[in-house]
Amino acid sequence: MLHKIKYRLLSVFLTLTLFACHSIHKYVTPMEANAEFPVLKPEFMPELPAVDFAWTTPLIDLIETEIDPYPIVNITEDFCDRDINHVNSSDPKLFAESDKMYIDLIRLQKGDYSFPLPGAKVISPFGGRRKGHTGTDLKTFAGDTIRAVFDGIVRMAKEYSAYGNVIVIRHFNGLETVYSHNSKHLIKQGIRVKAGQPIAMVGRTGRATTDHLHFEVRIGGRAFNPELLFDMDAQCLTDNVLLCTKNKNKIQVVPMQHFSFEAHHIDSK
Ligand SMILES: [Zn+2]
Repeated sequence: MLHKIKYRLLSVFLTLTLFACHSIHKYVTPMEANAEFPVLKPEFMPELPAVDFAWTTPLIDLIETEIDPYPIVNITEDFCDRDINHVNSSDPKLFAESDKMYIDLIRLQKGDYSFPLPGAKVISPFGGRRKGHTGTDLKTFAGDTIRAVFDGIVRMAKEYSAYGNVIVIRHFNGLETVYSHNSKHLIKQGIRVKAGQPIAMVGRTGRATTDHLHFEVRIGGRAFNPELLFDMDAQCLTDNVLLCTKNKNKIQVVPMQHFSFEAHHIDSK
């Protein structure tokens, strides 16, 4: 009889222990944690200079937001003297109505964008060993064709100190891209360009020790890591949603990821 009670008590204890373990396990499973926020999650910590950007945790109330892949962004198309003559120039219309904007890369189609220098390899990343490097250096051969990344308007096309011959394009999605050290320009300031349109040829004008493209991505005048935009190995857009936030004169770019959509621009082989 005593043995029976002992065994019964032991089995109750074991059952409770198993249940407790299961409960603890249930609340720490990452999949369970993600299930609470099924649409977007932060992807990785971006390599951004502390001076220009601060990291923030994505806000929970934005996580379930459906993002328009082609939002109408209010940009300035009439350029002032500063726009035409300086790489760093911010658009007063951008962030004028809201301090937040999303750039959804995942649902953009193949024709919506182009890699700036097809076939190129990264020889120097953003930030990286050379602190303060404001872009990604891409190498192919002298005279190779540089292409506009998105549709936009050429804000600047001229020789500009260390940049050498440089082109800045203001895009309709709010971003600006910068193409530097070019040997020759194929377009002029003020014209509209399409994604993939040839705009320049690779060179080593300005401060450059080899023929390459110094490629920058900017928003509101601030450069951020082009690897948030492009997968440099696959040479296609990342599957990020870029959450861009203006806070006084600082701009933060935080990459987030959709769970619910498949990237249209990545080849499925
Ligand atoms: Zn560079």
